Amino acid sequence: MTNFTKDVMHVGEMASGAALTVPVYRLKGDSTAPSVYIQANMHGAEVQGNAVIFQLLELLRNTQVKGDITLVPYANPVGCNHKNGEYTLGRFDPITGVNWNRMYHFAPEMIKPFVRESIGKDDKTIEANFKALMIQSIEQKLNHNIFGLTTGQRIAYQLQRLAHQADLVLDLHTGPISSKHLYCPEYAKESAKHFDIPHTLLIPNQFDGALDEATFCPWWHLQEAFAELGINFSISSASLNKESFTVELGSQEQIDLDVALEDAQSILSYLQYKGVIDAPEYQAKPMTRYACMLKDYKAYYSPMGGMVDYLAEFGQPLPAGEPLARILRMDNYGDGDPLHYLSLDEEVIPILHFASASVNQGTELYKVFTKYFTL
Ligand SMILES: [Zn+2]
Repeated sequence: MTNFTKDVMHVGEMASGAALTVPVYRLKGDSTAPSVYIQANMHGAEVQGNAVIFQLLELLRNTQVKGDITLVPYANPVGCNHKNGEYTLGRFDPITGVNWNRMYHFAPEMIKPFVRESIGKDDKTIEANFKALMIQSIEQKLNHNIFGLTTGQRIAYQLQRLAHQADLVLDLHTGPISSKHLYCPEYAKESAKHFDIPHTLLIPNQFDGALDEATFCPWWHLQEAFAELGINFSISSASLNKESFTVELGSQEQIDLDVALEDAQSILSYLQYKGVIDAPEYQAKPMTRYACMLKDYKAYYSPMGGMVDYLAEFGQPLPAGEPLARILRMDNYGDGDPLHYLSLDEEVIPILHFASASVNQGTELYKVFTKYFTL
């Protein structure tokens, strides 16, 4: 591929001096179509996104690429090597305990002064200036921080610097044992229909440290700050188009190249919809797409310890009173009740469940859509 380049980005150093690196693949588009940033495997056990990036690169060899596309597999070289016994850990930095996907940066105080300086300028100038400001803010953190950064921040900020250069951002994750679902900013819900993903969580304009929020919240805050002054600056207009998603590809600790091909085709449907590629053969499949507001996405914590037989199927509405799971308590056998059925008193859609069959009282057993609707 003539438009293809491969780089290695240094994101840190280990105690031995060995470099921590991530590969960066770039496809150069042939027009000014929206640009894209896709990364995978920020959480160590969530490996399927690497296979999806492989399939994307394979498919893109024969596709007309209009916008620049940057792809970063193995985004966290500490996380995916963090094993204990046969399991990959890699959800939390083992030194600080912080979730690897809560270390990105956004400083909302940059918005108001920027807006004051931007009044009267055209949208394209504002866009370019704001992008430069976000990159400068990250570079300030990386290069001019006299007290230094944690290992995780150094990795996250370097990835974020790449992400800020793109219009559209996809962060590929998986659940523990999980159905496919999409985290989508509320304003971009039309776009959710262009992925082959049957479940969408609509998230508000709140920054909690994740990459999707770190890339859409600044633009959304900017739009709101202009709106307060009665100025229309639309980040979902055809010319600006700022969107960012966390794509949950299924279960952790699994690579399935056939499913990865389907997931890559799903992402290409979205990129076709956005004009990033010229390949009308990629169209989202018709399906019932369920959505739920983030506040209605509920964790169900186990009311007791025990051994779990997970019963509820993912993705289908589960009527009130139908069992989610049954819990085996052999210690009660003979003089008590060894089997307990767990159910909820409202209809829900189970999305994911805990990865192990042995749980403590209070373990997050299931996550479910409540008050769901169709997109
Ligand atoms: Zn994750």
